[in-house]
Amino acid sequence: MLRIAIQAKGRLNEQSLGLLLEAGIAVAEGKRRLIARAEGFPLEVLFLRDDDIPQAVSMGVADLGIVGQNEVAEKGYDVEQAMPLGFGACRLSLAVPNATDYTGPDYFRGRRVATSYPNILRGYFARQGIEAEIHTIEGSVEIAPAVGLSDAIFDIVSSGGTLVSNGLREVETVLRSEAALIACPSLDADKRSQTEQLVFRFRSIRESRDMKYVLMNLPVEKVAEATALLPGMRSPTILPLAQEGWCSLHAVIGKAQLWERIERLKAIGAEGILVLALENMIR
Ligand code: ATP
Ligand code: MG
Repeated sequence: MLRIAIQAKGRLNEQSLGLLLEAGIAVAEGKRRLIARAEGFPLEVLFLRDDDIPQAVSMGVADLGIVGQNEVAEKGYDVEQAMPLGFGACRLSLAVPNATDYTGPDYFRGRRVATSYPNILRGYFARQGIEAEIHTIEGSVEIAPAVGLSDAIFDIVSSGGTLVSNGLREVETVLRSEAALIACPSLDADKRSQTEQLVFRFRSIRESRDMKYVLMNLPVEKVAEATALLPGMRSPTILPLAQEGWCSLHAVIGKAQLWERIERLKAIGAEGILVLALENMIR
């Protein structure tokens, strides 16, 4: 049986469980302990602090894990990245007090920088040829400059709201991160093929998230023009309508192009356009 480590509580917990659920894998809530047996897939779920997930996966305590790429990069354990998951997006950035006259990374020479990510920061400064003092602190990094503990911070940023409310300004982005599925490098053939099944499910969930199912009525003589506007899975589905000269056209359209395409379809005579959420898309 495959074992996957996910965050016990925190920012990634809900979306990790949600992704498993969408993939048809339910974890019994309520009696959630350190480890739970999932339904719908031969899988055990191990609930850990996110800091401990890379090590657990690299040692094979868990075969798989869902964790931020930032944690993987910081811990440096040997794990395989099976796929990025499209949630938990953030970046690791250097920030300085608003009033600082910042002209570039040279500013950090000889300065004190507080962070919970000393390894990533050390790597960045080494690449830049900068010697700075790195102060590792576990929580509340953002208040370090205000209390005189450091001249700058290196921390997780998503919206930037925390920085603003602490009078800080983001000046360098060092790493972009999102949650990823990671795997132990020494999985046997059985576990590898189970992992592939899981990746297949996650991938179709991700792809369907970015797509909509669109249906519309269209004069038959416009089908060729409409088809040219629709980059479907293969080509759109055309069904005859009871009314002579009209058909119903079904297609899958990427969210990014959705409204532009719909306007152009309307312009060539499409009517009664319905846009539906796509539950799953199996390629
Ligand atoms: P744990 O108790 O498991 O150690 P934690 O407090 O270290 O939890 P969380 O704050 O729950 O961690 O964040 C987990 C992950 O969520 C981060 O490592 C990062 O990958 C991601 N993340 C996305 N946006 C943010 C954000 N704005 N602040 C912090 N983490 C974020
Ligand atoms: Mg943590």
